[in-house]
Amino acid sequence: MLILGGSTEATELARTIAASEPGIEATVSFAGRTTSRASFPDRIAVRVGGFGGVDGLRRHLADAGCTAMIDATHPFAARMPFNAQLACAALGIPLLRLLRPPWYAGPGDRWTCVDDVHAAASAVRCSGARRVFLTVGRQELAPFAACAAAELLVRCIEPPSPDVLPNAEILLSRGPFDLVAETELLRSRRIDLLVSKNAGGTATRAKIDAARALCVDVVMVRRPPSPDVPTVATVADALAWLTGSRVL
Ligand code: NAP
Repeated sequence: MLILGGSTEATELARTIAASEPGIEATVSFAGRTTSRASFPDRIAVRVGGFGGVDGLRRHLADAGCTAMIDATHPFAARMPFNAQLACAALGIPLLRLLRPPWYAGPGDRWTCVDDVHAAASAVRCSGARRVFLTVGRQELAPFAACAAAELLVRCIEPPSPDVLPNAEILLSRGPFDLVAETELLRSRRIDLLVSKNAGGTATRAKIDAARALCVDVVMVRRPPSPDVPTVATVADALAWLTGSRVL
């Protein structure tokens, strides 16, 4: 089977298969956006790099003799889930999407929800915020160049291109993050606006709770559309699909 990686759940699923499902031969695929990756037991094969669109993915699945696929890409992967749907449909290969639920605003949250990072940058400009904490990943910073009136603190896993936001302060860090540290970060930097993608899950949730506690405004980017394919929210349910429905 092939697991499309890019989320913490993909890594957890592959490790669980290695530990508890000796009959399943699994490969995890990464786009290769980051240079460091999670490690896996020897039983799990790892491949890195795009397939070359739907046709490339279809060829890969056929050549590798895949009989099932789990798309566990990140909730903000906009294209790969649709490629997976088309390639699997063409070959009649069962496909499941493993997608964690989004976060929902609760009492005390001060969210402005927007459709994409361009709208997020507009919302930052309109907000009049002075010190903005950007946590949208290093690939999507360019629209925030128009937010020159604010001081920008950018957190990402690997350095962004130096010419994208030359005046921003860059904080290199990989989650999970905890509430005490996130609260201290927002407080000590006197952040008055947080920009986040609605990634869901626990690894990066603490900044949202810290913002609520400190009455900090949040610009929340909604998820991109997802294809209409069978979807589960947890690794346990993905494993049950694999082992229970005889897709392999
Ligand atoms: P995307 O728009 O869905 O994918 C763009 C292209 O990257 C795809 O067409 C595919 O190239 C390649 N690709 C994506 N996922 C792949 C995988 N698991 N294995 C092999 N190739 C893959 O996704 P993206 O936003 O560029 O993100 C790239 C990867 O980073 C995804 O795997 C995603 O899970 C992860 N990620 C994304 C975000 C985010 O905020 N966007 C955050 C954390 C992690 P080909 O067409 O050539 O096959």
